[in-house]
Amino acid sequence: MNSSCFYCQKDQRLENLMIKISDLHTSTLYLNKDQTHSGRSILALDSHKKELFGLSSSERQFFIEDLSNAAKALQKTFAPQKINYAIYGDVVSHLHVHLVPKYQQGPDWGGAFVHDPAVTKALTEQEYNQLADKIHQHLNLEGVRK
Ligand SMILES: [Zn+2]
Repeated sequence: MNSSCFYCQKDQRLENLMIKISDLHTSTLYLNKDQTHSGRSILALDSHKKELFGLSSSERQFFIEDLSNAAKALQKTFAPQKINYAIYGDVVSHLHVHLVPKYQQGPDWGGAFVHDPAVTKALTEQEYNQLADKIHQHLNLEGVRK
């Protein structure tokens, strides 16, 4: 746990950016509040580690399983043409993956998605909750003990 990290503290800074969809094996899936790309989500590792090579082999396997599970749920929910995956963490070094569904007729198709677009697309709290519920229904939660 890191006292200055919002993924560890799960405080207001986190709530301003995302809402929780579900606990998974070794990570937590969140819906990104900027929905410029419909279904944009974030998968954050449960422990404060910086790089993939800092995880134990089994933790890494579970993390990749969680990532695949999350991506499949997004595919089923939003039917994008492709899902983009991005691990940055220059500023917030807690390991997390951006899952960004991409649409042929939508923004940034064929290129890298804009991480912090100048104009974001916000939804109502009710719409966020509905989307989170839909994604949650498509997750495979078998064996998830949290
Ligand atoms: Zn952290």
